[in-house]
Amino acid sequence: MLMIHCQPDAETQQKAGLAISFDDHFIDEWFALRPMFNQYGAKVTFFITCPDSLSADEVAKLRQLQSDGHEIGFHGTIHGKSTELIIAGPDEYKKIELTPGMSNMAKAGFKPTSYAHPGGNHNEQVDSVLRANGFKILRDVSISKRKFKGFQMYALAPRLMPWIYYSFDNERIVDALLIDEDAGLTTVAMNEALAKATSTNKALMLFGHEPLYGKPKNGEYGFYVPFLEKILREAKRQNLKFYTMSELPEIN
Ligand SMILES: [Zn+2]
Repeated sequence: MLMIHCQPDAETQQKAGLAISFDDHFIDEWFALRPMFNQYGAKVTFFITCPDSLSADEVAKLRQLQSDGHEIGFHGTIHGKSTELIIAGPDEYKKIELTPGMSNMAKAGFKPTSYAHPGGNHNEQVDSVLRANGFKILRDVSISKRKFKGFQMYALAPRLMPWIYYSFDNERIVDALLIDEDAGLTTVAMNEALAKATSTNKALMLFGHEPLYGKPKNGEYGFYVPFLEKILREAKRQNLKFYTMSELPEIN
């Protein structure tokens, strides 16, 4: 049999990139970042936790973000502890955490295909229920800084955390690195982490919560917007591609 070998296309072989996601319900605050996303050509994923309904204004904003090329994913109805909810059985877990929020999303015209585990809490049974309900990719949480009894024990350089890189192996259960202020990441560490995505032809996965313009106060948890902008600028400088979460397992 004659085999025809096509010359690999240099363009399609270059996959190195960045997949950024944002969790919870900071829809107004994320929407305010639109000009910055547009400036750097960044496509990101918003994981919405959706306890009751979305307001008309929130729906309009999410639709605009979606039509900009961003993805709208799901982050649970009650942001519960799935490993505890699942003890009552898969149906009970679905009834509490998945069905109400997903039906609110559907009413608003969204059909999320990616899921971020609330609090990074999950197990195999939870994952299998989520997969059976149509989620193509499940995102967990990874943090570089570890504290023990209030003391910082170690801060692992992100470039030394292979699990926060997507290898384009169709993996559907992934970890993203927290970029919130309390993760204590530096610009140097992030530039090195991005350089590693380039040199290994992988996608670095990052996530954060509320966009902040100063140090967190009054229980705020989120990332410093100028820090995110430095990441986007460096990603653009290194010619990294931007991926939404559901795109990752689709790329061969
Ligand atoms: Zn969350």
